[in-house]
Amino acid sequence: MDKQKKNILLIICDQLSAQALPAWGNSFAKTPNINSIVESGVRFNNTFTTCPLCQPARASFWTGLYPHQTGVMSNGRQHYVPNLSETIPTLGETFAAGGYKTVHFGKQHDAGSLRGFDLAPITEREIKNVSAVFPINYDSREDLNTSEQTIKFLNNYSDKAPYFTVADMNNPHDICNWIGKFQHNNKLVKTDCELPPLPKNLYRDDKDFKKLPLPIQYICCAHTRQAQIAEWDEEKIRYYLLAYHHYLTRVDDEIGKILTAVRQRYDKNNTLIVLMADHGDSMCGRWMATKHTSFYDETVRVPFVFSGPEIYGKNRSVKGLVSLLDLFPTLCDYAGIKSNIQTEGKSLMPWLAYKSTDFPHKFVVSQWHTEWGFTIEPGRMIRTEKYKYTHYLEENGEELYNLVTDPGELKNLADNPDYESVLKEHRNFLENYVSATKDPYFNLEWNAEKRWRKHKPGYRNHRGTAAPQQ
Ligand code: ZN
Repeated sequence: MDKQKKNILLIICDQLSAQALPAWGNSFAKTPNINSIVESGVRFNNTFTTCPLCQPARASFWTGLYPHQTGVMSNGRQHYVPNLSETIPTLGETFAAGGYKTVHFGKQHDAGSLRGFDLAPITEREIKNVSAVFPINYDSREDLNTSEQTIKFLNNYSDKAPYFTVADMNNPHDICNWIGKFQHNNKLVKTDCELPPLPKNLYRDDKDFKKLPLPIQYICCAHTRQAQIAEWDEEKIRYYLLAYHHYLTRVDDEIGKILTAVRQRYDKNNTLIVLMADHGDSMCGRWMATKHTSFYDETVRVPFVFSGPEIYGKNRSVKGLVSLLDLFPTLCDYAGIKSNIQTEGKSLMPWLAYKSTDFPHKFVVSQWHTEWGFTIEPGRMIRTEKYKYTHYLEENGEELYNLVTDPGELKNLADNPDYESVLKEHRNFLENYVSATKDPYFNLEWNAEKRWRKHKPGYRNHRGTAAPQQ
């Protein structure tokens, strides 16, 4: 083993909000294994994904580029998604060229951006004694296979080259399947377990709802899962949260098995462990389910934790704004891989290796285009330390939230004269970003049929199907 080079184990969860974890203030979650990574390392408290949707987010962090630069702007189906261009360098091929054994287990959904990793076949493992309260699908069954394969690799790998291994887990994404089972008026399967409390930002004032950008007002019409929860009551919302925590604990169990395998290796002290998620989950804030179109913190703010040699401090948190675009340059910097590759991210080593106090980014950006192409709702988010500004092309919809006084993002201040200068400042940030990254945003076109913009405001007034179900 080359003493200079450290192994890297990157653990990714799908649909895991930062706020779902104890380190971010959730006292209901049971995640002892994730906690052990947090307690032994450094976490970036304010990390944002570039898109709250699997495939665009993944193609983005595997390349360090925004979705408009990778061309991977949706999950596909009716919306064309090109395979990542061969001319765009990927994290996998950069590490393979840098002398690493690069292997990937589990969820891909990458549009070609995992190029450079040896990809393991994805299969399912049978899970016995599944409770009817928490039905499972391929998400949970594949995760068992992913942890098994990762552990097998860790138990057997003895080559000279350092490894860069990815354990790419699906859960807590199985919550999407859970909604399907209990959609509309389908009866809950109940349990005696303690239910999580309702979120503080469950309800939004009707007057404020009408001031929201149209793509936000009508997420229920564009998104199957949001349509399926329109008729729910508070009890079902609490069961959703209970199930979400269940799938989170499931993935934490698998992560625990992987950590045990790492810690049993002779080179355990020479291994960096990174934990992150592609995007979050609405966790029922503002009566919302899963993720779609919006840029609220539940869905765009994700965990980002580093633990291992040369990471300074234990259980330390860094407040400054960070983007998942930073993953690529940070890992290259950590591993001493020099390259001329241009990414939109920044190395976070000054914050990981010692206590740099300035902020990594003045603002971070997230994008939305469409999930499946049935409605097209281009939008951009500018997140600064105190504020969040969003813009949607459809009728120039805007949101502005003061995150200090309104962390639940319930009061849109975009038309409040007291915030005119803040609004202007954030519009300028958006324009600066658009020109610096050559984002064609302002020239894109939105597309949503009138029938998806007509019911009484409020997700709970939605009835029937949504655009993707037509
Ligand atoms: Zn609707």
